[in-house]
Parts: sequence; C-alpha cells; structure tokens
Amino acid sequence: MKSLLIINAGSSSLKFAVFALPLTQDAPSIYRGQIDGIGANTQFVAKDVDGKVLLDTIIKSPEGTPLEEQQQLALDALLNWIEAQNIQLAAVGHRVLHGGEDYVAPVAITPEVLAKLETFIPLGPLHQPHNLRPIRALAKKYPSLPQVACFDTAFHRTQPWEAVTYPIPRKFTKEGVIRWGFHGSSYDYISRQLEGVLGKEKAHGAVVVAHMGNGASMSALRDLKCVATTMGFTAAEGMMMGTRCGTIDPAIVLYLMERHGYSAADVSRFLYKESGLLGVSGISQDMRTLESSDAPEAKEALKLFCYRAAREIGSLAMAAGGLDAVVFTGGIGENSQFVRNAVVDYLAWMGAKLDPELNKVRGKAHCVHTADSKVALAVIPTNEEWMIAHHTTTLLSLK
Ligand code: ADP
Repeated sequence: MKSLLIINAGSSSLKFAVFALPLTQDAPSIYRGQIDGIGANTQFVAKDVDGKVLLDTIIKSPEGTPLEEQQQLALDALLNWIEAQNIQLAAVGHRVLHGGEDYVAPVAITPEVLAKLETFIPLGPLHQPHNLRPIRALAKKYPSLPQVACFDTAFHRTQPWEAVTYPIPRKFTKEGVIRWGFHGSSYDYISRQLEGVLGKEKAHGAVVVAHMGNGASMSALRDLKCVATTMGFTAAEGMMMGTRCGTIDPAIVLYLMERHGYSAADVSRFLYKESGLLGVSGISQDMRTLESSDAPEAKEALKLFCYRAAREIGSLAMAAGGLDAVVFTGGIGENSQFVRNAVVDYLAWMGAKLDPELNKVRGKAHCVHTADSKVALAVIPTNEEWMIAHHTTTLLSLK
C-alpha cells in the first residue's frame, strides 16, 4: 500500500504516523506510535487505526552506545517495522522546529535546503539537530525518497515587527533573537477549520487559538493569519505549561545563578523540566492527575494555569484588535472542561459565556458558547500529523 510516513523526532523520542494515499480530509492515520526513552530504556510502541497495540517492544543496544547511534537504531527499527507491514513509502513528512527567516511554508528537502536548515541549529539546539537527523539518515538510505519539512515557526512569520521584536540591543535581534513562535502545524490546521466551525465572519475576525497540551501556547489571528503569539525565541516563553514556567521575570535566572550557584544546565532544568504545573503542584505535570487530586497545591496549580492563560488571552486580544472568538485545542484544550470553564470565567467582563452542556461534548469540533455570549467559544481537535501529511502530498503532487 502506498503511504506517507510522518516523523516528529526529538532527542529521546520519535513519534510517527502513517497515512494511506490518496490522503482525504481528516483521514485517520493507519498506523501511529512512538519510540520513547532513546538513550535509556528505548521502548517502541505501534498502534493501528483503532488504537490497538500492534507492537510493544524494547530496543536493545549495548551499554555505552552513543546517543546518536541509539537514535539511528530507533529509526532503523521503525523503518524495518514499516517494511514488514507491506507499506510502500511514497514520501516522508517531518516536523521541524525552525525554518528561520527563509521558510514561511513547508519545503521539499534538497541537499541545499538541508544545509540551510542546519544553520538554524543555534536557534533551536534542543530540537533542530534531532529533527534533522532522520532526514539526513533517510536521504542517505533512500536517495530517491521525497522528503518534506514542515516548520513550527512558519505559521508565525506573518507577525508584524513589533510582535516579534524584543527590546534588546539590535545586534542580537539581527542574529535571530526574536519572537519566532511555535506549534505552527497545529495553528495551521486550526486556522483551516475556523470557517466551518465559527462561520465566515467570525473566523476572519479577531480569534485567539489556545493550544494547550504538555507544551502550551496561544496565537492571535486576524483574517486567519497570525498577528501575535505567546511563545518567543524558544518554546519556553508565554503560558505556564506542564513542566515549563513560561514568562517570568528574566532576572529570576540571575538570582538563581548568584544565590544558588545555578549553572546553565541547572537553569535549563528549572525553566523546562521543574516548573509549570509540576513545580507549583509538586505532584504532577499531568492535568488529569491534578484535576482528580484534592491536594491544595494541585488546586493552586490549576488556578495559576487558568489565570495566566486568561491573562494571555487579554494580551492577545489587544494584538488582534478585539476578540471575536476563542478556540481551545491540544490535550488540555480539547478535553478539560474544568480549564475551559475557569479560563472563560476570567473573560466574563468581555461578555464571554460558556454553555455548561455544550462544554461536556467531546471528540469533535464544536462551539461551546451560549446564545447570548459576545465572544464565540469553540473546541477544535487539532491534527498536526494530518496537516504535515497534507502539505507533503500537496507540495509533491502525490496522488
Ligand atoms: P503534547 O503537548 O505532549 O502533545 P497533549 O496535547 O497530548 O500533549 O496534552 C497532554 C495534556 O492533556 C496532559 O496534561 C493531560 O493530562 C491533558 N489531558 C488529556 N486528556 C485530558 C482530560 N480528559 N482532562 C483533562 N486533561 C486532559
């Protein structure tokens, strides 16, 4: 069967999805799964279209195998498994963190493009090298297999100068220390659903899309284009997240260095791994766990998450010149009635009203506002893999 492989490769994980060709609107992936714990205990799980586990195995490598080799072993294991399913790959689409200033849309990979993407590694050292490694490996193994890169940053390249510029010395701005924004494939997908869910007029107005998963960000859209977003130079800025603090006083970092002797690695752990829902609750980064906990720290973590999310909506409404609609997506945005309810409560002064019955509906794109709400409110499940598959087929004219 002719198919597309979609890859989202990180340093210790590789998520994948396989779509059959021809690709239809919102077609589910025929297979999906992930390889986790690369570098420690590498586990490979693959599921079919119904979520049935087809494979759950440990990938073994000799003690002391370098991380890069383990990442290669993980990719090889995936390719072997795909071959064993009788899948003929027509192309591979990749989620890539950074397209820099050059790429405002997905691009077919050539050696020149790959070389250019490597120059963006300093802008995203935690992700970019890991996103590019499987592209290079696949190009070597299957030189005629077409590959496409879809960038997290691309959707946000429509932001005006004042939305992307930090008030810092110009020399840093010139080398790329600007507010790039991320989660682009999710916003790209949601922006294409807005007319169908909100109607043409509201969809083209001032819309804030809240992508809330383990990583969380929001974007303000005007006429379906991004005018501002909460993530900045890195995916650490903006909202409180599962384990990231989001925006804090930058001088806290100086305090930690001077008072607690924090190194760069300690600061990185503090910003990315120890803060957010986990740091405040001291219990978990997982929204479901916190919602079902009676601990006061869990309740405080939820309150802070929702308060800060609502404050970001206020800020983005300014950037969008109003607020016609708020759209919730991502694992938390799509599933947490509690979070939607608490966030919208903070927007009551704008005339936003949530319908408690509609708020209970799950698993499909739908509006959740009352008839008299001044702001439309909607839940739209995101589909980043399908978006990448769509761009891959379109760019390569695959049938
Ligand atoms: P990622 O950013 O890793 O893709 P997801 O978009 O899958 O993450 O979101 C994961 C988050 O969604 C977790 O905090 C999880 O608890 C939360 N979540 C998933 N289902 C529910 C639910 N039914 N109620 C509340 N939160 C949920």
